[in-house]
Amino acid sequence: MKPLIIANWKCHPTTLIEAKGLFNSVKKGIKDLKNVEIVICPPFVFLPFLKSKIGSQDCFWGESGAFTGEISPKMLKNLGCEYVIIGHSERRRYQKETDEIINKKLKAAISSGLKPILCIESLAQLKKGLKGIAKKVIIAYEPVFAIGTGKPCSPEKARKMRKAIKYPVVLYGGSVNSQNAVNYIKEAGFQGLLVGGASLNPKEFIALAKNIDFISKKR
Ligand code: PEP
Repeated sequence: MKPLIIANWKCHPTTLIEAKGLFNSVKKGIKDLKNVEIVICPPFVFLPFLKSKIGSQDCFWGESGAFTGEISPKMLKNLGCEYVIIGHSERRRYQKETDEIINKKLKAAISSGLKPILCIESLAQLKKGLKGIAKKVIIAYEPVFAIGTGKPCSPEKARKMRKAIKYPVVLYGGSVNSQNAVNYIKEAGFQGLLVGGASLNPKEFIALAKNIDFISKKR
């Protein structure tokens, strides 16, 4: 499998013009990369306007109904989304999402045909999030101290966690940039990356993607 790179734009940018600009710059910069899979996860409102491999940063646990403000996995699938991030630490923290809610969202995403990416920082979260789910979903190991802090987890420490997560596809996330990205694939044994801050800077994100493409080609 090609390394998978997920760009999580979080709550950025604030205009459609900027979103299209960022998206098109990245698209142009990565168009010749054949050895890496890149997925852009913008805010919901920009999804219909960005045509390529896209994912969502969250989804609701129901299909439709009286749930004001929610976006269902079915809607996302029908819009052309392929992936959905579920259980990001920022949603656990600010939206008070519990492992039980995350588990329901994962089940809903799977039954709608989306590829969910379950974010965890501990084996306990992994176990609770996946309760009753037999399918092998993509896992993103994101130590909270490393998210958006500029203080990445050391590849040695990340490697230990990678070994403990007995899943075929595990991404690393937390202050990844073009300089340190390769270490998490080559040294720590991850199958891809979840990138926040660096995905908002096209030059940096393209450089990161090129570095991963390069090592993937050599394998
Ligand atoms: C993230 O958004 O999941 C993330 C890891 O952010 P950053 O790369 O900015 O640490």
